[in-house]
Amino acid sequence: MPQYKVAIVGAGPAGYFAAQALQNLQTDDLSFAIDMIERLPTPWGLVRSGVAPDHPKIKTVSKVFEKVATAEGFSLYGNVELGTDISIDVLKAKYDAVVIATGSATGKKLGIAGEDLPGSISAAQFVPWYNGHPDFADFNPELNCETAVVIGAGNVAMDVARILALEPAELDETDTALHAIDALRKSNIRKVVISARRGPEHAAFTSPELRDLPKLEHTNVVMNPADIAAALERAGDEPEKEVRNNLEAMRLISELEQGKHARTMEFQFLHTPTEFRGNGKVEEVVFTTSAGEEKVIKCGLVITAIGYEADPISGIPYEKGKVLNSDGRVSENVYVVGWAKRGPSGVIGTNKSDAADVMNLLVADLNEPKPLTELTSLITTNKVISQSHWQSINAAEIAAGEPHGKPRIKAVSREELLRLGGL
Ligand code: NAP
Repeated sequence: MPQYKVAIVGAGPAGYFAAQALQNLQTDDLSFAIDMIERLPTPWGLVRSGVAPDHPKIKTVSKVFEKVATAEGFSLYGNVELGTDISIDVLKAKYDAVVIATGSATGKKLGIAGEDLPGSISAAQFVPWYNGHPDFADFNPELNCETAVVIGAGNVAMDVARILALEPAELDETDTALHAIDALRKSNIRKVVISARRGPEHAAFTSPELRDLPKLEHTNVVMNPADIAAALERAGDEPEKEVRNNLEAMRLISELEQGKHARTMEFQFLHTPTEFRGNGKVEEVVFTTSAGEEKVIKCGLVITAIGYEADPISGIPYEKGKVLNSDGRVSENVYVVGWAKRGPSGVIGTNKSDAADVMNLLVADLNEPKPLTELTSLITTNKVISQSHWQSINAAEIAAGEPHGKPRIKAVSREELLRLGGL
C-alpha cells in the first residue's frame, strides 16, 4: 500500500484539521505518515495562546487535536523551527507534500503618528502575554493608568477589552498565565473604551460574544442606545442575519443598568483614530468623528486589534500578509491552510472545511511516493518535543492547576516546558 509522507508546519487548528482531513482520506490503498513540525515546545497554536482564557469551552477542540495526534502515522516534532532547525528546501525534497499552517502572528498597524510610543501595543502582543506564550513572558503592558483604549471592532478587540475590564478574580479559575493575573490584579485601569471606526451595523463582533458581555459580574458594559437605534435605522428592514443578531445583542447591552461597578467597558462607534499623542509615552488618542470633529481620550494604554498578518517564510512566496496561493496550492508539493492561506478570518471551526478542501487538492496532485526518511536525522536540534513529551507537559500543567481549581497552570518559559517534557 503506498504511504505518502506529509510535513505539516505549525501545530495550530489549521495544521490539526489538515492532518485530520488526510487521516480521513486514507483508504486500503492510500495512507499517510504525517510529521507535524512546531516551533514552540507546545502544540495547539491559538487554542493555547490566542483563545481568551475566560472562554474555556472554545478550547475543548483540543480533544479533537489530541485524537488526531494519537492516531497511527502521526508524529509531533515540537521545539523545531522552520528556517533554523530545518529548511523548507529539505522538507520539499524529502516529503511528498509540505503543508504550511503557520497562521498570522503579527498585528496590523494603523500607520498613524505616535503609534510607536510606549503604551501603544498590539493585541498580537497582549493576547499571547496573558495566555503565557513563551515569547511574551517578559512583555509588561502599561497597566498603571486609569483608562485604556482598544482600537477595533472584532472579537479580538472584545477579548482584549474584556480581559482588561473584568475583575481579575474572575480569572482565578482559568488558565490565564499567573504573571498576567498578578499584573491585572495590580492594574489601575478602571475604564476601557473599545473604539470602532464604523457603525454598530458594520462591527465584526459576533453575537455569541456580545451576548456574553452582560454576564460580567463586576463591570459596567456601556453602549449608547442612540448609536444602536441609528444603526438599526441605517441597517433597514431586512438586514443580514448576522447584522440583525448583532444589533439585537447590542440593543440589550445598551439597555443595561449602568454605574453599578467600579469597572467600565464602553463602546464608541464611528470614531477613526488619527494620532496617539504624549510626551515620551501615550497620553491621549485623537479621533475624528463621523461629523468631522476631533475627539480626544486621555489614556495611558492603547491596544490595536485591527487584524493580523502572516510573517514571510524564506523560500515561500508571500503577498499582502498571506502566503501567495491558489486555493491553497503554493508551488510544486507545497500547500497552505488556515490564516496563512486566507488571512485572519473565521472562527476555529472554519479551518476544518478549509483544510479539507486543500487536502483534497493535495491528494489529487500526488505522484509516486518518495522513499522514507526519518525526520530526526534532518533536524539540527536534539531537543525535540514528541507527542509523549507533550503528554507529560500537559499532564504536569493540569496537575498543577487542580488544587487551585484551574484547568491548568501553564509553564511559560521554554526551559520549564522542556523540563516538564523530560528533556
Ligand atoms: P476582525 O474580525 O477582522 O476585526 C478587525 C476589526 O479591526 C474590524 O472591526 C475592522 O474595522 C477594524 N480595523 C481594521 N483596520 C482598521 C483601521 N485601520 N482603523 C480602525 N479599525 C480598523 O479581526 P480580529 O478581531 O483580529 O479577529 C480575527 C478572527 O478571529 C475573526 O474572524 C474573529 O471572529 C476570530 N475570533 C473569534 C473569537 C471567538 O469566536 N470568540 C475570538 C477572537 C477572534 P472595519 O470593519 O471598519 O475594517
